[in-house]
Amino acid sequence: MPDHASGRIDLARLQEVLDGPWAEVRNAHRKHLDARFLPVYGETGDQARERITRLLSELPVELGIASAFPMEYGGRSDVGGSIVATEMLAQVDLSLMVKAGVQWGLFGGAVAALGTRRHHDAYLRDIVSGRIFGCFAMTETGHGSDVQQLRTTCTYDPQTQTFDLHTPHEAARKDYIGNAARDGRMAVVFAQLIANGRRHGVHAWLVPIRDAQGKPLPGVTIGDAGAKAGLLGVDNGRLSFDHVQVPRDMLLDRYGQVAEDGTYSSPIENDSRRFFTMLGTLVRGRVSVGGAASAATRSALTIAVRYGDIRRQFGTPDADREVLLNDYLAHQRKLLPALATTYALHFAQAELVAALDEVQGGDGPVDEHRQRELESRAAGLKAAQTWHATRTIQMCREACGGAGYLSENRLPSLKADTDVFTTFEGDNTVLLQLVAKGLLTGHRDEFGSLDGWGRASFVAEQVREMVLERTAARSLIERLVSAVPGRDEEVAVTDRGWQLKAFEDRERHLLDGAVRRLRNGAATKKDRPFDIFNDVQDHVLAVAAAHVDRVALEAFVAGIEDIADPAVRALLSRVCDLYALSVIEADKGWFLEHGRLTPARSKAITGVVNGLLKELRPHMRTLVDGFAIPDTWLHAAILREEPRRQESMAAHDAAGDPQAVPA
Ligand SMILES: Cc1cc2nc3c(=O)[nH]c(=O)nc-3n(C[C@H](O)[C@H](O)[C@H](O)COP(=O)(O)OP(=O)(O)OC[C@H]3O[C@@H](n4cnc5c(N)ncnc54)[C@H](O)[C@@H]3O)c2cc1C
Repeated sequence: MPDHASGRIDLARLQEVLDGPWAEVRNAHRKHLDARFLPVYGETGDQARERITRLLSELPVELGIASAFPMEYGGRSDVGGSIVATEMLAQVDLSLMVKAGVQWGLFGGAVAALGTRRHHDAYLRDIVSGRIFGCFAMTETGHGSDVQQLRTTCTYDPQTQTFDLHTPHEAARKDYIGNAARDGRMAVVFAQLIANGRRHGVHAWLVPIRDAQGKPLPGVTIGDAGAKAGLLGVDNGRLSFDHVQVPRDMLLDRYGQVAEDGTYSSPIENDSRRFFTMLGTLVRGRVSVGGAASAATRSALTIAVRYGDIRRQFGTPDADREVLLNDYLAHQRKLLPALATTYALHFAQAELVAALDEVQGGDGPVDEHRQRELESRAAGLKAAQTWHATRTIQMCREACGGAGYLSENRLPSLKADTDVFTTFEGDNTVLLQLVAKGLLTGHRDEFGSLDGWGRASFVAEQVREMVLERTAARSLIERLVSAVPGRDEEVAVTDRGWQLKAFEDRERHLLDGAVRRLRNGAATKKDRPFDIFNDVQDHVLAVAAAHVDRVALEAFVAGIEDIADPAVRALLSRVCDLYALSVIEADKGWFLEHGRLTPARSKAITGVVNGLLKELRPHMRTLVDGFAIPDTWLHAAILREEPRRQESMAAHDAAGDPQAVPA
């Protein structure tokens, strides 16, 4: 570690870097959300739902959760602030965050994005204030990932000027819908629009589902999705419609209108393109879920690192006290690379939120290419952050031993509540395929559809050699990469340019290989269109994963470049080395197979990683304290009780009770 970094880190400076431009929103949450809002361990599902519903009504909306809505309806037109507010709620209680996300993100967000002025004027104010509770009813029992194939129909009748909303069979039932089982009064329902005998693809309607007393309205059947693995405070339910009459003006008609006589019109002619444009406007939900997963990961890591700094196990002959868990290399191997990845993803998420704020926050027309890039970035980072959360929270649970398994120490609920994040707001595997498709086609085809992948003509027309798109700090990254001398052996593995080049080479090589294999498939498997894509699906997923790794590394490098404080900068530079080298180490098979690493250099990387762990050991606590999660929010008994226990044991041992101290 450079000299100026070996001194003390000013935590306030580190926190400033991590809090970023929406620090005020973060601080307001830290200040106002007290112990009342924390999870209650061991409560029943009914108790959890009751408590979360009550807390949602007590949640000060002005903290920012609904800030994305326009001012005139009670928001602040602050898209980025609403994402950051969601992250903060995720550190308080994940059920509360998800329930709030359904109300103001999914339900309110869909009315805002897909509706027009009359819907906004009639409903947005009450949605923002929480007077109208709602659901986002897209998924059906039979169709989750492929929502273009929903089976619910909504058929227009010019005689009555109403739509007939209908669930034709059990597989078309709306399933898993948040806010449906108990609290929702209205729902944004997605269904196939049929007018004058023609299908126009999936559209959305704003549909009342319960009366003022909470009873289902005629024709609406509401069920409960039943017991779940986590998120007990969220009332997920099922909805079916038996020829429910929906007035014509309840069609959220920004992208498709139906005139009184049933004539359909839309600014986007192609049904599929229109649907995926509509879905694209809802990207905020995906960005929120990724951010929330990372926020929960930071909570888990904070608990595990702090516990590892007080918990002792096994003695050494040369010391009078037992060894702290965090002093074991194996423990550092668990916690520090995960912490480094968490930092990388934090910077990538910050870049994404800033881009989202820019693209969706303004009044002007949305740049289509940027919107596609944003959707792709959101899909990739959602997958990376939620998978990282699942892996890391489990690892933190193990790092706390048996104590990690007790509810009172928070980790079980973090684990159970974030588990499903890999599935909702888009299944991760499906999302990574979309990312790959965007890369292979240069974002020219509509994003969001996996249709047409297998067609030979699609592959021939769309798939092309890619010029890698660079992230925010284009010129900086280019400068660092081009400064790397030709022969790898002459460059230290801690050289940032070399690391960036290694990530870039891997992505480019995988991408070129996928293009070649798809083209060969298109030429030889014309009569088996499904096989063209399916035979390279694993390769295509590897392209997307490598891409997301590069996005995260470049965001981390760009973030460090902006840090003014030299000590913080040097520390995070080392954390960035650890991120880059642990990714390469984990995929060393690929780097060796493709001649990107010699066996000697590959072994050297393991040594360098171990060296970095030793250097970063004294900063572990600082690195989690930088997240600035209030002590009360951590809500883990071990952090309160273990120090006391250790002290009393040390005092007892020091007093020299011969029967108590092992020889
Ligand atoms: C707690 C919870 C809350 C939810 N809240 C809502 C809500 O409020 N509103 C709403 O509309 N929905 C909601 N959902 C639904 C959620 O969005 C869907 O579960 C999700 O989109 C996945 O769909 P599915 O369950 O049908 O899985 P499937 O699509 O059937 O996927 C199952 C498996 O098949 C794999 N798979 C699917 N297609 C492919 C392919 N092309 N290639 C390779 N593998 C593939 C997937 O990777 C996955 O492993 C919620 C779900 C849960 C569990």
